[in-house]
Amino acid sequence: MSEISTNTFLKLLTNSGISFFLQNIPNNLYEQKSKTNRKLIHNISEILTIKELEMFIKNSNICKLRNEAKSTVVGDGNEKSKIMIIGEAPGAEEDKLGKPFVGTAGQLLNKMLHAISINRKDIYITNIIPWRPPNNRTPTNEEIIQCLSFIQRHIEIINPKLILLLGATASKTILNTNLSITKLRGKWHEYKSINHKETIYCLATYHPAFLLRSPENKKQSWEDLKKFKKRIEDENL
Ligand code: URA
Repeated sequence: MSEISTNTFLKLLTNSGISFFLQNIPNNLYEQKSKTNRKLIHNISEILTIKELEMFIKNSNICKLRNEAKSTVVGDGNEKSKIMIIGEAPGAEEDKLGKPFVGTAGQLLNKMLHAISINRKDIYITNIIPWRPPNNRTPTNEEIIQCLSFIQRHIEIINPKLILLLGATASKTILNTNLSITKLRGKWHEYKSINHKETIYCLATYHPAFLLRSPENKKQSWEDLKKFKKRIEDENL
């Protein structure tokens, strides 16, 4: 499918009210060779490792955000972790260094994790969108849909037991809802996917960048973090 027809197809879907793919429909728009030459990858669900996923995303031209970004920011941390954190999209510092959450929001995230005795090296961190949107604007619905299969496969490969969703974009995308972050935060939600047998439990909370702008919400965020930590302990993760 050409880039133009792909975009037309996505527009048609979004205009008809479709904002979520239970089956990874965008997946079959790709065809790439795996780095190991294992075989030709026709479908993103054939990808088995984060390295392959990274190469796949780097070679994908499904989303125009790639054209303006310096880096493709995939993930960071322990790929074997049962704890995953999902943010929105890289900012300027992340784009420069090629890693998620290394700017000021990342510093606050490190502090938040430290407060619940989690070292970020022990967990896995990624974003909904792998490319920095210009001027750090919020990604559009179309961009989110274009990148949706990346995060879906990412979750399947990491196979976490718990996910912490940071902010509205991550929460609404993963939980497939239009509810506001204020309604979603502080509660456990279930994530189910066709390619994944087990339910993954997700806790939504405020994004650290939002907390930097509105520190009065830190108290609620602290309650969410304590809830997250308790489940980690209860499940011996
Ligand atoms: N904000 C995000 O959502 N992700 C990053 O990686 C950095 C800032």
